[in-house]
Amino acid sequence: TWDKCLREIRKEVKPQLYKTMFKDLKVVSIDSGVLKLKAKDRIVKEYLEKNYLNVIKEVVSKEFGRQLDVAIVLAEDIHKPLQLELNLFEVKKRKENLESNLNPKYTFENFVVGANNQFAHAAAVAVAENPGKAYNPLFIYGGVGLGKTHLMQAIGNFIKNVSPSKTVVYITTESFMNELIDALKNDKMTEFREKYRTVDVLLIDDIQFISGKDGTQIEFFHTFNALYDAGKQVVLTSDRPPKDIPMLTERLRSRFEWGLIADIQPPDFETRIAILRRKAEAEGIEVEDSILKLIANIIKSNIRQLEGALTKLKAKATLEGKPINEELVKELFSETTFTNLKNTSTKKLPIEKIKKVVCEEFKIEMKQMEGTSRKKQIALARQIAMYLARKLGNFSYSKIASAFNRDDHTTVIHAVHKIEEMRKKNPNLNQIIMELEVRLEEFSQDV
Ligand code: ADP
Ligand code: MG
Repeated sequence: TWDKCLREIRKEVKPQLYKTMFKDLKVVSIDSGVLKLKAKDRIVKEYLEKNYLNVIKEVVSKEFGRQLDVAIVLAEDIHKPLQLELNLFEVKKRKENLESNLNPKYTFENFVVGANNQFAHAAAVAVAENPGKAYNPLFIYGGVGLGKTHLMQAIGNFIKNVSPSKTVVYITTESFMNELIDALKNDKMTEFREKYRTVDVLLIDDIQFISGKDGTQIEFFHTFNALYDAGKQVVLTSDRPPKDIPMLTERLRSRFEWGLIADIQPPDFETRIAILRRKAEAEGIEVEDSILKLIANIIKSNIRQLEGALTKLKAKATLEGKPINEELVKELFSETTFTNLKNTSTKKLPIEKIKKVVCEEFKIEMKQMEGTSRKKQIALARQIAMYLARKLGNFSYSKIASAFNRDDHTTVIHAVHKIEEMRKKNPNLNQIIMELEVRLEEFSQDV
């Protein structure tokens, strides 16, 4: 409402005057019919008292819908308790319109519990039933598509259901970062801090992306402390445990480990079947158990793809007017993928794919990747591709060397070592590599 008052005043006075005298006025409290405003210095205070007190009173009374007196104070005159009172007032107002960002389809009810996720599930339920008290923070980690986001949002949905008045905020680390940057640019840090430091439950997804982002780490450190000290619940997910997140300040790492760390493993066969069955029922897809078993044998480590396969199968069957049978499954996965996947637990990531993805990222040609140019950008891209081939693809040094037309495999050893070192020192580069890893890992589980 004060913002509205400011807008009214802005219409009345000269822009320059508004900027120097009014713009930075902040509400301190509304108490016993007096609205206290904080001025940034004595000159402003005296000037306004002398010339504009009545104008402000009029606008304020109109906007707040009741007769209010106005007092202008200086920062040093403000007592703490009043500040607190205002904060509470503001928080209450804001709570009503703060979006949770939760997807209602992610609930505990439709989360299939198996040996692979039993521990994380139990921890999540405990946190949902006793936010801020059971485990704080709860840190869930595991590979792509294993249900981390689902479980985290289930906590939020559960709490929202039981206590609608509680503020639950779900946000990805990336959006948190972007919002922070926007707030900095637009001079909205106060709002940003108020938003995140006053929620009851904060759910931050994919925290590994905070790696190397020093500014975000500092801000999040304070957010975390404010929430933790106030007994508010924090839940974090990551694709790896805190100790394996590179370029994370020690103080954040240790806080991530304060509560409980729970991992999610790839689902075993039984769980995969159970998930497929649940999904088939939910979507009204009629499919025999033998087919579910077949799919569960093909896709082993990504639940998103497990579900996707069923959906694709259904679509194909409908389109072609065929029944869902083994034939159709084979067609869908194509003969080669089918045998490949059936025989190995995870599909091997080809070096060619790694090279291609890195070329795209660095906007260079495959010829350059495989050539001998020592231009900085090209050499770096080549070394990163070698590093990823070793790290993600697990290829031998000599195999990698020949894939890059190199005779000497020590070139590869050198590249791997160099990139490892660079990751520790260069946050931007590290971020790029992490994103490449995620993209390639997704591919390696692709069907
Ligand atoms: P992650 O965040 O770990 O990458 P998601 O939470 O996005 O994975 O899960 C991928 C998909 O798999 C989602 O559609 C989710 O509902 C589903 N899923 C994951 N785990 C389970 C489970 N245990 N039971 C039912 N569905 C699951
Ligand atoms: Mg996720």
